[in-house]
Amino acid sequence: MNSKKLFNESKKYLPGGVNSPVRSFKPYPVFIEKGYGPNLWDVDGNKYIDYCLGYGPLILGHGNSNVVEDVCNQLKIGTTYGAPTGNEIKLAKMIIERIPCAKMIRFTNSGTEATMSAIRLARGFTGKDKIVKFEGSYHGAHDYVLVKSGSGAATLPDSLGIPKDTTKNTLSCPFNNEDALLKLVSEEKENIAAIIVEPVMANIGCVEPNKGYLEFLREITEENDIILIFDEIITGFRLSKGGAQTYYSVTPDIVTLGKIIGGGFPMGALAGKKELMKMLAPQGNVYQAGTFNGNPVSVQGSISTLNQLDSEFYNNLNKKGDYLRNQIGDTVEELDLNIQPVGLSSMFQIYFNPEKVTNYELAKKSDVDKFSVYFHELLNRGIYIPPSQFECNFISSSHSYDDLDKLGNSIEEALKIAWK
Ligand SMILES: *Cc1c(COP(=O)(O)O)cnc(C)c1O
Repeated sequence: MNSKKLFNESKKYLPGGVNSPVRSFKPYPVFIEKGYGPNLWDVDGNKYIDYCLGYGPLILGHGNSNVVEDVCNQLKIGTTYGAPTGNEIKLAKMIIERIPCAKMIRFTNSGTEATMSAIRLARGFTGKDKIVKFEGSYHGAHDYVLVKSGSGAATLPDSLGIPKDTTKNTLSCPFNNEDALLKLVSEEKENIAAIIVEPVMANIGCVEPNKGYLEFLREITEENDIILIFDEIITGFRLSKGGAQTYYSVTPDIVTLGKIIGGGFPMGALAGKKELMKMLAPQGNVYQAGTFNGNPVSVQGSISTLNQLDSEFYNNLNKKGDYLRNQIGDTVEELDLNIQPVGLSSMFQIYFNPEKVTNYELAKKSDVDKFSVYFHELLNRGIYIPPSQFECNFISSSHSYDDLDKLGNSIEEALKIAWK
C-alpha cells in the first residue's frame, strides 16, 4: 500500500502524480525503490521482471557493473564543465563507426531536443518549412511533431497550447502506404523540407515497415530534394549495432538518437551527412545549443554501454527475442486466440486486435480495455511492462532464459483471463 500512499501524496505536488504521462495507470502506478539487472523492486517490496526498461534505454538491464564503475569515476572528477572534453570525440567516433549515415554528430540531452534540432537543420538546409510525419509516430513532446502523435499522446486528446501556425507546417500521412505519400509529395514537394519516420513504429506498439517501404522513402525523398530523417531513438543500438538503417540497409540523411545512447543517463543526438551537420552553430547558421550537451556523465555512460554492444551481443540478444516470440506465438496458437503477437530483435508486443496491424488506424482498433486487464494480470504476476497497448516491450542482455520462461508462462495465464 506504500505505492498508493505515495501516489496520493504525489498528486498534490506533481500534475497527475507523475513526471511523464506514460507512467500513469489506474488505479495508481507502482512506485519504484530500486532496480538491478532485469529486476525492479517497488516500495511495497514486490519484485518484478522489467520488460519496460525505462521505455527502451536499458539494453544492459539495470546497474550494469561496467557502466556504474566508469560513471562513478567520472562523478569524482566533475559532472559538467561547460567546455569540450576528449570523451566527446571518443564517443562521436564510436557512433560514426557504427551508424552508416553518421559522419558528424551533435549531442543533446533528450530525444525531443534531437528531433527538434534535426527538423530545424533540415529546414535550414532546404529553405523549406513543411515536414511530413506519419500518423502515430512519436518524435518527442515539442510543437513541430505533436500532430497525430503516438506514445502517451495516442491515449490522450490533442495537446492544447500548440499554435496552428506551427502545426500547419506539419503534414501527416499513414505509415506503410505508398500511394498516400506519393499524393502528398506531388502536391507539396516545393514546400517539404523533411520526412521524419520511425523505421519501426514503436510508439504505437511495434509496427514494422512493409518490405520495400523504407527504400521507397529513400527514393521519393532523393527525387524531390527532401531530407530523410530516421528517428532511431528506439531502434538505434537496439535492432543492430548500426540501428535500423543497418538492419534494413537503407541510409537516411539524418538520424536522431536517444534512449540507449545515454547508457541509462539523459542524452540524445542528431547525426548525419557532413554537408548538413556543418550547418549547425557555431560552424553554420542553424542554431542548436544546450548547457548539458555532451554532458561528461552521460557521455561516459554512453561509452561504457556502447563498448559492450558488439555483433555477438546482438546475436545473443536477438536469439532471446526469437525464443520469447516463439513461445508467445505457440501460446496464441494453442489457445486459438485471435490476436496479433508482433516484434523483432529484442522488441515485442501483443495487439489485442484480430487484424494484422500495419499502421496507426489499425493499431487504434485494438481493445485497450482487454490490454489493461492483461497488463494488470502480468503486474500481479511480477512482470512489469509499459501500461499501454501503444508502447513496445523490450528485452535486455541481463534477462536470462529463465526470466523469459517466466514471462512466457505469465503471458499465457494473463491472456487466458484477458482475451475472452
Ligand atoms: C522516446 C522517443 C522520443 C523522445 O525522446 P525523449 O528522450 O523522451 O525526449 C522521440 N522519438 C522516439 C521514436 C522515441 O521513442
